[in-house]
Amino acid sequence: MVSVKQAIDLIKKNCNPLLKEVVKPINKSGNYILCKDIYSPINMPPFNQSAMDGYALHSHEELNYKVVKEIKAGTNHLPILKVGDAVRIFTGAPVPDTADTVIPQEEVNLEENGIQLEQKIKNNLNIRFKGEEIKKGELALKKGTKLTAAAIGYLSSLGITEVTVYKKPSIAIVNTGNELIEAGEPLSHGKIYESNSKMLQNALYSLKFYDITIYNVKDDYDKTYATLQRLINIKDLIIISGGISVGDYDFVGKALNALQVKELFYKVKQKPGKPLYFGKKKESILFALPGNPAAALTCFYMYVYTALQKMMAREVLTLPRIKAVSNSAFKKKKGRTQFLKAIYNEGRVTVLEGQSSAMLKTFALSNAFVFIPENIEDITINSIVEVILLPV
Ligand code: AMP
Ligand code: MG
Repeated sequence: MVSVKQAIDLIKKNCNPLLKEVVKPINKSGNYILCKDIYSPINMPPFNQSAMDGYALHSHEELNYKVVKEIKAGTNHLPILKVGDAVRIFTGAPVPDTADTVIPQEEVNLEENGIQLEQKIKNNLNIRFKGEEIKKGELALKKGTKLTAAAIGYLSSLGITEVTVYKKPSIAIVNTGNELIEAGEPLSHGKIYESNSKMLQNALYSLKFYDITIYNVKDDYDKTYATLQRLINIKDLIIISGGISVGDYDFVGKALNALQVKELFYKVKQKPGKPLYFGKKKESILFALPGNPAAALTCFYMYVYTALQKMMAREVLTLPRIKAVSNSAFKKKKGRTQFLKAIYNEGRVTVLEGQSSAMLKTFALSNAFVFIPENIEDITINSIVEVILLPV
């Protein structure tokens, strides 16, 4: 039995970035991690650009200017300005080399043949200079950067169409349990609708992992063994649901053992989710989550999440933790960390009624866990508590 911290540390230590690289079109690269430095193929901006709708001036001592032409965004034909000339110019349009400053239209008075300034203005105003953001050949984004929407916009602005990124893991979810039937089928006595795989699949989708296959096995040693044997080495991550407890028909542990999966931990001092298993064989990482749905999802967010982040070569490996003021009181026993389903809002957090690990009704309303460390026995109203924000 390990503590929560030991469990997380073992996951961090034993999961590695997938060394497989893939080339992705830039617009399909969201959330991937760059596995190569990217250098800018162009100057950005590529030319001196007007930052305003207004007038570009070839300045002189006087305040009146003759307006000689107009330059729209996207124009290639640039007029040559003589001293005292102005051109009407728009945001994003190229500023001619013969202009030395741009004045916003709000700051000029229109006259019959030109414009009149209210006061003299300085050179180089309201111009975004060529290469000001980045010069051709400079490092645009370094290896290890997560491709957020902003990063994708930035690389697209440099004309980059594809990127080399770390491959995302190929994932298997394995349901175990004779009692499970598919929603849509009539519910016969003794059966329940299978829900964990749908829940875990959607938790993965919301983290932008899509290469997921679901397998169903009965509570049968040979079938469990055969399914896991087939998946080891072809899947980067195998998430097993149920069958890892101590019942006579829990065959997952025995099968993993027989398959010589290296057990890195089994059982964590926590509630919910004590019978959590983490192991590794060759290139495959295996989690066996407790079958109770709320325990399974808690373990997903606390542990599988970290494994996934590490496999993706990300720097931040755990969900955000913040301090909040508790609206609730709660008592627990010493010796086990507890994750309480809760709603966090603007600095305060409310622990919800109904913390059973077998039930999802409360989880469905939660956006956070209140984290009560192993050796703390209670939290009181208005005390400061630790909150883990869920990616919901
Ligand atoms: P187990 O860990 O296999 O002993 O399962 C613990 C509890 O979780 C039992 O009540 C199971 O029926 C339930 N359970 C296991 N797997 C699933 C699943 N995929 N969907 C919904 N409930 C499940
Ligand atoms: Mg079971």
